[in-house]
Amino acid sequence: MFIIIIAGINHFFDGEFEFPSFLGENNQKTVDGEVSVYFLDVDQGDSILIVTEEKTVLIDAGERDQGENVIADLQKYDVSTIDYIIATHPHSDHIGGFPDVFSYAAESDNLNIKNVIMPDLPDSKVPTTRTYEKFLDGIEANNISPQFLDSTMEIDLGSAVITLLPPQGTDYSSLNDYSICAYLDCKDTTFFFTGDAEKEEEEDLIEAGLINRKADILKAGHHGSRTSSSESLLEIISPKYAVISCGTDNSYGHPHKEAVSRLENYCDKIYRTDLEGTIICTVNQDGVEWSFDK
Ligand SMILES: [Zn+2]
Repeated sequence: MFIIIIAGINHFFDGEFEFPSFLGENNQKTVDGEVSVYFLDVDQGDSILIVTEEKTVLIDAGERDQGENVIADLQKYDVSTIDYIIATHPHSDHIGGFPDVFSYAAESDNLNIKNVIMPDLPDSKVPTTRTYEKFLDGIEANNISPQFLDSTMEIDLGSAVITLLPPQGTDYSSLNDYSICAYLDCKDTTFFFTGDAEKEEEEDLIEAGLINRKADILKAGHHGSRTSSSESLLEIISPKYAVISCGTDNSYGHPHKEAVSRLENYCDKIYRTDLEGTIICTVNQDGVEWSFDK
């Protein structure tokens, strides 16, 4: 089933003039052109595909059993090159699908992966799991030297700019708080991606001045957990839409009603992959267009 909803973003110019966020000093490189963000349906996990007119980014690849689904989606959406893979943090519901994706890229001519970016973890937090080993093996099989993000990185994607924010702490108890977060600035629309960042990381990124402006669309942290999407984050991001990536009847009870309730105070609409399937947000000159592929 494929459904399309069109929602204008001309709210910037309704009533009082509000300075568009894309004109911020960090975002002068954005140019006209369509950008599509696919929140892939990977059951309980995250996988987000960003396609601009020039570049493709894949943020996470879901659980171990979702690699083949992600590959099928890459084929379905005509992706033959991934310019940047961003592994937000090394939990299996985010990196588990990557080994299959890396194998597919290494063994066929149908997919080329150019760069891999992951958080720069303290030594004591580096996982020793088989999933993480296979993830590293896959990177090596594609002759890629991974980049460990230790400071803010801005990447020009042509019709968008992505700004990667490194985790700020070194002694978080949860690996979730080592998630790479990111602003994606298209010409008139801004996204904010969170990985599984929880309240502690959100607060530290705010304190560091790295979460410092609004975004139209928020990928809610940690699958809509009550420990993420804090009021202090929402006050700054002030999202018009939120997307929650979680599995049907997942054992964690995601999304938690406390988080949904906080999001509802800001958002006109909250989309969920467990209800809608793959959620596609396309940004072009006419505004924001949502479609769903289930
Ligand atoms: Zn997760």
